[in-house]
Amino acid sequence: MGELQPSPALVRRESNDIKSELKNKYTWQQVAEKNSAKEAWIIVRDKVYDVTEWLWKHPGGKEMLLLHAGRECTHTFDSYHQFSDKSANILRKYEIGCLVGDSEFPTYLPDTGFYKECQRRVVAYFAKNHLNPKQNMPAMARTLTIFPVGLLSYLLMTGCFTSNVLVMLISSILHGCCVAIPLMHLVHDSSHGAITGNHKIWEFIGRLAMDWLNGLSFTSWNNQHIVGHHIFTNVAGVDPDLPVNFKSDIRRIVERQILQPIYAWQHLYLPPLYGLLSLKFRIQDFTHTFFSRTNGAVRVNPISLKDWMLLGSSKLFWIFHRIWIPLYVLNAPYFWLTFFLSEFVTGLYLAFNFQVSHISLTCQYQCHDRDYCNIPEEWAISQIKSSVDYAHGSSLVAFLSGGLNYQATHHLFPSISQYYLPEIAPIVRDVCRAYQIDYVVLPTFFDALKAHLLYLKVMGKNGKRVDVHMG
Ligand SMILES: [Zn+2]
Repeated sequence: MGELQPSPALVRRESNDIKSELKNKYTWQQVAEKNSAKEAWIIVRDKVYDVTEWLWKHPGGKEMLLLHAGRECTHTFDSYHQFSDKSANILRKYEIGCLVGDSEFPTYLPDTGFYKECQRRVVAYFAKNHLNPKQNMPAMARTLTIFPVGLLSYLLMTGCFTSNVLVMLISSILHGCCVAIPLMHLVHDSSHGAITGNHKIWEFIGRLAMDWLNGLSFTSWNNQHIVGHHIFTNVAGVDPDLPVNFKSDIRRIVERQILQPIYAWQHLYLPPLYGLLSLKFRIQDFTHTFFSRTNGAVRVNPISLKDWMLLGSSKLFWIFHRIWIPLYVLNAPYFWLTFFLSEFVTGLYLAFNFQVSHISLTCQYQCHDRDYCNIPEEWAISQIKSSVDYAHGSSLVAFLSGGLNYQATHHLFPSISQYYLPEIAPIVRDVCRAYQIDYVVLPTFFDALKAHLLYLKVMGKNGKRVDVHMG
């Protein structure tokens, strides 16, 4: 038997341990206990910081910081504080010790310079053109365009101005789209703090549009999308957007999952099931985030009575305006048909937009076939390789997808308004070229959809990745 060699990450951790011999030492489990407003600790680059005092002063708001309390935050910190050194200087003041032992989740390799170069060029672009990276006017303008169409389609589908069934069905489809588009514009940008520099505004917009108008939970979304998905994109076992239960999930996306015969048909049965996504989320907010206090592998920090009350009352309000009013006040004919059709369209719209960007033949997966691994890639490069862009240059696609057709750039710069992604994506692509990293851009949405469906087909039959040139 050959001698076992320690992994580079372990060697790095051991050398950090030696360097920090004189400091207070904490394990990730000890840090994980400090996850509330009483005591909030975070880990950045193997150093532990007590940021309790900073909670109320944090320019990004207390809520954003509490979401990350008790966790490893290196990549979150780097990707949300790109425009000034101020935050790094402030953070230094709160250092209390260092991390020892293992980490909770797989770790990435240190930055080789690629991400710093992307950041340097993008920051210079905004400075040179005197642009505000959190510009909110386009988001507001697009929402104002969608809102009247959404309202009119709601009135038509509930039979206010017509009794024509065909008009009601078409209006239901239109309304389903009008619900999805603001979620991908306003809510997505709000959750990333990318609308204005004022955290109160993005928290208000996020809760209003997601909790009150759509009966979904902004808290649940933030745990899944910000804490889980954005940091551990396509890392099997951590990214909540990938299957969590490797024995019984309805989808087979990674090789660690047991190959069941039914998966041979997943490219056919999953697309219609995507239509149930928004209804599924409304239930999962209770079961997965609030009751179980986990979202996939992500621990959910303590939930206050106020959060519970918000969850309950906003869901009741959604049932009131979405079901009770049309059914009992407007006496909407064919109500359940139009309701489910509209919900189905919203689910399809959201699911396809999210799925084609990461579950694709062109994307890379980490810990694909092993239970636990150290990721042999730096974080930013892994983001590029685990995402796929499409239809660059198309304003229509950018509008319909909420800028998610620039997915890789969004992952590197989550706090920049999605309306700048078309401008900064070429900068990121240039840096990728210099570092010989493949930044995949497919010509159209349909090419991205094809790559998604083909991936489902391949994983459903043999689980092996294949290289296919798309367009
Ligand atoms: Zn995002």
